[in-house]
Amino acid sequence: MGIKENLDVIKNNISLACKKSGRSEAEVTVLAVTKTRSAEEINRAIELGITDIGENRVQELMNKYADVKSGVRWHLIGRLQTNKVKYIADKVSMIHSVDSLKLAREIDRQCAKLGKVMDILIEVNSGEENKAGIPYSDADELIKEVSALENIRIKGLMTMAPLGADEAKLREVFSNLYNLSVDIDGKKYDNVSMKELSMGMSGDYMTAIEEGSTIIRPGRALFG
Ligand SMILES: *Cc1c(COP(=O)(O)O)cnc(C)c1O
Repeated sequence: MGIKENLDVIKNNISLACKKSGRSEAEVTVLAVTKTRSAEEINRAIELGITDIGENRVQELMNKYADVKSGVRWHLIGRLQTNKVKYIADKVSMIHSVDSLKLAREIDRQCAKLGKVMDILIEVNSGEENKAGIPYSDADELIKEVSALENIRIKGLMTMAPLGADEAKLREVFSNLYNLSVDIDGKKYDNVSMKELSMGMSGDYMTAIEEGSTIIRPGRALFG
């Protein structure tokens, strides 16, 4: 199937998951994950209405940046090394993978130079084998510290479900992230919103939507 057919399937599935959970489709953004995809494929997806694209590597993002249609929002969704922030700070609209104060400080520093305020998500670790993200128990403390940085705005949380998780485990992981966001929202920290929950990839986005996802990150399901 082509990208158009795949996108139709995804949209239909979003609609089903929203109906099942009493949510509105307008609350769910499709962030097309474009790693390993050519600029040509990405531009095709944009022509079909994709507004947000996600890369997980700085170098790959840089390589494609000039060849992708303008007007689309770029997201950095993978591990970000502190010394590479300077290359992407001017290019991305949101960074999903902030899991340390050190990284947040560098984003803040680079964005101050650009006169820009960066939207970020705090990545929470949901799996044993996946090292990215901070543990649930440390999220509150990190958010408190990051919220003091002037050129960063915390917009919510992100997670990746453990590889091979069954349906029950997926639900647990996604609902835990949702509950954490409600907890933190209740604390009313200045400069912190918990509006966005970036969770759900090709294999699990329907479950993620049922558990409150606002940004799903399909790659293979869209590009084949
Ligand atoms: C690769 C990747 C995805 C998309 O994975 P698919 O299984 O192709 O949907 C989503 N999120 C992150 C962080 C990724 O690295």
